[in-house]
Amino acid sequence: TMACLTAMDAGDGLNAYVHKTPEIALEQARAADARIKGGDAPDLCGIPLGIKDLFCTKGVPSQAASKILNGFRPEYESTVTAKLFDAGAVMLGKLNMDEFAMGSSNETSCYGNAINPWRRGNDETALTPGGSSGGSAAAVAADLCLAATGTDTGGSIRQPAAFTGIVGIKPTYGRVSRWGIVAFASSLDQAGPMTKSVRDAAIFLGAMAGHDPKDSTSADLPVPDFEAALTGDIRGKKIGIPREYRMEGMPAEIEKLWTDGIAMMKDAGAEIVDISLPHTKYALPAYYVIAPAEASSNLARYDGVRYGHRAKLAQGDGITEMYEKTRAEGFGPEVQRRVMIGTYVLSAGFYDAYYNRARRVRALIKRDFDQVFAAGIDAILTPATPSAAFGLGEMASADPIQMYLNDVFTVTVNLAGLPGISVPMGLDRQGLPLGLQLIGRPWEEGDLLNHAHVLE
Ligand code: GLN
Repeated sequence: TMACLTAMDAGDGLNAYVHKTPEIALEQARAADARIKGGDAPDLCGIPLGIKDLFCTKGVPSQAASKILNGFRPEYESTVTAKLFDAGAVMLGKLNMDEFAMGSSNETSCYGNAINPWRRGNDETALTPGGSSGGSAAAVAADLCLAATGTDTGGSIRQPAAFTGIVGIKPTYGRVSRWGIVAFASSLDQAGPMTKSVRDAAIFLGAMAGHDPKDSTSADLPVPDFEAALTGDIRGKKIGIPREYRMEGMPAEIEKLWTDGIAMMKDAGAEIVDISLPHTKYALPAYYVIAPAEASSNLARYDGVRYGHRAKLAQGDGITEMYEKTRAEGFGPEVQRRVMIGTYVLSAGFYDAYYNRARRVRALIKRDFDQVFAAGIDAILTPATPSAAFGLGEMASADPIQMYLNDVFTVTVNLAGLPGISVPMGLDRQGLPLGLQLIGRPWEEGDLLNHAHVLE
């Protein structure tokens, strides 16, 4: 904990932490020491973690990197952080992210962007750590914590993990409680660990997961020992390679990374099978209807009354002006765009044409995966991202669609509710990390982690 606290101050330039909690960290570390001395040392005893700003932490600023939550200090602790603290973990502080987890580059944060500790060769251009869990990824990659929490609605754990050379797993929808995590798109959001290794991810996920009566979508299933699943033995397993992920114009380096991953799995005794997930091309459009629709509804609660920011009003302003001014000042441009898209696709005249159609597409995407798993495939291997980390401003200055295209390999997994993991797979020509994604059967995170372990 002391080493991380020092590293955190030295690493301020990365803008990974938006709020540091050294007093809490020291108090928790002392308590952990006492537990260890008393012979009661749970898995995460004394392990210093960073917590994404999307998690409500009692008495500690929790703003989802949004101005509209200025000054918000929750009265309660999210289930995930409560579980981590029960397991002995230490909180170093809150980590930067895209505002309300909307983005792929951490550039929509009200705190300014986090920065990727990696550089292109000798080029000093600052790169994005990805998003939305960009602060988490930067902090883990730069050793400003041992591991961090992330959340993933359409790739926000896996893409930043790939951009910074770390491991990130999005569990099966329902494996981890969403209670106390600021909601973005409730049918897609899942929290998960971002770590240095697959083993760390297995241990950390075990501590986060489990049924929670406070989240009606959390599954009432036992949490297996994920670490025990890491045998490294995948002989006879069937690995699916989906042809629809072979996108036109895919950079040669991403192709090569994928081929290398396939070879590693084959060497480990797995059987490689070509598969088809025919509705893949509709995933991005469906996601960018469903996620904004749910967001527009979830974000209706930020009205200037219940939480955080309230605009200064002029003489004669009524409640409508108060809502309008507060929301116009409090939400950044990307959040406003999503609220507008969401409200539009849910409006009476367009509901069927957009929202309902997107829901039907979602069901087809899920069916594609169900069929492949029913045919005996154990895991699906794809690239995690279509490119390595890009420069700050490079995508943000283009139209928003360019940024959305970054999620092409990850959103299908959220739409289908499946577990997905990003594993680092070496460096590209410019010396930047790249990641591969493995997608597993629902509730079989142990098996998925074991497959990922083979790629380490
Ligand atoms: N980049 C995606 C989006 O902007 C995914 C975000 C996430 O997973 N939270 O919606």
